[in-house]
Amino acid sequence: MKKLGTLIASVAIGIASFAPITFAQDKGTVGISMPTKTSTRWISDGETMEKLFKEAGYTADLQFADDDIPNQLAQIENMVTKGAKVLVIGAIDGTTLSDILQKAADAGVKVIAYDRLIRDSGNVDYYATFDNFQVGVLQATSLVEGLKLDAATEAKNVELFGGSPDDNNAFFFYDGAMSVLQPLIDSGKIVVKSGQMGMDQVGTLRWDGTVAQARMENLLSSTYTDAKVDGVLSPYDGLSIGIISALKGVGYGSGDMPMPVVTGQDAELPSVKSILADEQYSTVFKDTRELAKVTVSMVDSIMGGKEPEVNDTKTYNNGVKVIPSYLLKPVAVDKTNIKDVMVTSGYYTAEQIDN
Ligand code: BGC
Repeated sequence: MKKLGTLIASVAIGIASFAPITFAQDKGTVGISMPTKTSTRWISDGETMEKLFKEAGYTADLQFADDDIPNQLAQIENMVTKGAKVLVIGAIDGTTLSDILQKAADAGVKVIAYDRLIRDSGNVDYYATFDNFQVGVLQATSLVEGLKLDAATEAKNVELFGGSPDDNNAFFFYDGAMSVLQPLIDSGKIVVKSGQMGMDQVGTLRWDGTVAQARMENLLSSTYTDAKVDGVLSPYDGLSIGIISALKGVGYGSGDMPMPVVTGQDAELPSVKSILADEQYSTVFKDTRELAKVTVSMVDSIMGGKEPEVNDTKTYNNGVKVIPSYLLKPVAVDKTNIKDVMVTSGYYTAEQIDN
């Protein structure tokens, strides 16, 4: 009996001495809401954050919303109900989250807009992203280089594609690109033969590659039956792949029809390979591992009662307030440097690129 009593007592002491340690290590739950798995970049963003949050002592609740707005709202609501202390959100449609973010704020939950700005809500605390205007500048600069405009004696025909009009980034990419292209259009060095310009005409809902492919096919049959397209501004690799399919479909990339200069973004593996195969011309590399790191460190500061580091307090007005932001630098890559940049950074292995 005495022995049993001692055993029970020591078990109880054991529990008592272990329990607080377990609680002290768990810094709380962070809800990570990513828009989609159709593009590998978002999978990599989500999984890197999940790993880093765990290493920093947090419980990570990672959800992907399949580009379905009600799905994302339900997933975020569930995170709040389950007691998340911070939400990290890569929005599908940056204007649809006001109600759920009000509920989050009422429950004391902090919110970080991840990569895409969340608009029309005062309940967004910080924004972690890349310099999105600069992404557009890099895309257009590379397009102009690829067109060899400096040496050109004739105007070049270029068509423009924009990203999803419900994604604030799409406007920054387009405006950044047009800051380079508009003067060349004005001086007649570049001609947008279809006349389709402005995000209302060139936007691609949900960044859907099949939509871009269909629009390119239409442009080719309506505008380019007896003229050649020389370049296409594409804001994202998934669209570039669709655009290139349409171009190949009518013979570009073989014989006397060189592949037009097609830009991109994200350095997704199929596009890296396409660039090395002389199809896509360039892309913009954004190291999502760095963005994940910045975000985890922001959350850790907030949770520790400190001010997170930001480097931009002017650019991102979400319609209610300017969101303090941390902007990372995007990097332009084309055939001359892509393998080097991607492998040296450790983003891909040489085998992944070559196979
Ligand atoms: C991101 C891009 C991405 C696009 C499509 C944008 O919000 O900033 O990196 O190419 O969404 O997923």
